[in-house]
Amino acid sequence: MSTIDEVLAGYDGLRAAQEAFYQDLHSHPELSHDEHHTAQRVADQLQKNGFTVHTGIGGTGVAGVLSNGAGPAVLLRCELDALPVREDTGAPYASTVTARDAGGHEVSVDHACGHDVHMSCMVGMAKLMADHRDRWHGTLIPLFQPAEETGEGAQDMVDDGLFGKIPVPDVALAQHVLPGIAGTVATRSGPFMAAADSLKITVPGRGGHGAVPQYTVDPVVLAAMIIVRLQTVVSREVAPGDTAVLTVGSCQAGTRSNVIADHAVLELNLRSYSAATRRRMLDAIHRIVRAECQASGSPKDPDFETTFSFPITSNDPGTTDRVAKAFAGHFGDNALESPVQTVSEDFSKIPDAAGVPYTYWGIGFTDRNTYLAAEKDGLLEALPANHSPKFLPPLQPTLRTGTEALVAAALAWLAPS
Ligand SMILES: [Zn+2]
Ligand SMILES: [Zn+2]
Repeated sequence: MSTIDEVLAGYDGLRAAQEAFYQDLHSHPELSHDEHHTAQRVADQLQKNGFTVHTGIGGTGVAGVLSNGAGPAVLLRCELDALPVREDTGAPYASTVTARDAGGHEVSVDHACGHDVHMSCMVGMAKLMADHRDRWHGTLIPLFQPAEETGEGAQDMVDDGLFGKIPVPDVALAQHVLPGIAGTVATRSGPFMAAADSLKITVPGRGGHGAVPQYTVDPVVLAAMIIVRLQTVVSREVAPGDTAVLTVGSCQAGTRSNVIADHAVLELNLRSYSAATRRRMLDAIHRIVRAECQASGSPKDPDFETTFSFPITSNDPGTTDRVAKAFAGHFGDNALESPVQTVSEDFSKIPDAAGVPYTYWGIGFTDRNTYLAAEKDGLLEALPANHSPKFLPPLQPTLRTGTEALVAAALAWLAPS
């Protein structure tokens, strides 16, 4: 029996407990930065299986270390947090939890992104690997990151001295439930998820009476010019074959028709797939806003604030190749190549801080028959996606697939065949 089959033979024995653990996590979601109970629960599981456990990293982050002789160190990362979404799935274990968000508002909370699936698979993987430590060597590091949805948790863990607490790994791995058939896994080499940046830009004008515009600098006209000119960033400055998005999602200025406001506030979101394109877009935005302010005779420099920022997720080809080969060997026809995703992730901040290669793959979360029927009718877009109130992966084969993927990928380093 191969090492991977030997390790995974234990899955049937933990399946019932894993499903119960998942349903319990699903019923008790916690918002970003507030994942205290969730962190405690996963830490308990690691402890039970003989891992050295570090808690409270960057807030509520948890990392387990299982040192099992000489060999590579493999870090596998998942997320602790849920979303301010009101679940509408009708599942018997659906969440009815409410909590206060960062702004103090009462919101419903739901694991609508599948982080509960990721945690359950990680805990299952940790147990299987701990039970079969005679079959591999090296160091296994399951890591549970807080506040992924707000794009802060990975950096928080790094800033809190993560790599002073755990060994610097040789490789970092992560997975996410993504649109696709449950039971499939999908890898992709190179750029995989977009870098995303949100900017809040304040452009100063000079306020006054609407009847005497000659004494004012009208920030509404200034903002309008900026918005039009920003449309040329993607169309004129990004190469036609490159993919990028720039959206002005919000523009606020003024209070009534006969008052000229003294400033305007624009909120922008941009997405890109290479560091060079991202830099080029940010430079263009700064240049255009400054130049339009100058053209309008703005009395002060504009103010730029980054409200959130996700790095690009670009999978290392050698690392991806190794995982893809392991998946092809184990999953056969259910190991696929993933398309590029327009969503974003902060995972890469962890391997980037350590200067180590990484790969990130998807596991499907839609029941096979449901997916194939929707595909036939051209209705794939209508299927509930991540962050939807209707998002709910089938327990199986999702949990088994996610667990097997983690084991197969970790063993590609810890017990190479
Ligand atoms: Zn999400
Ligand atoms: Zn997510």
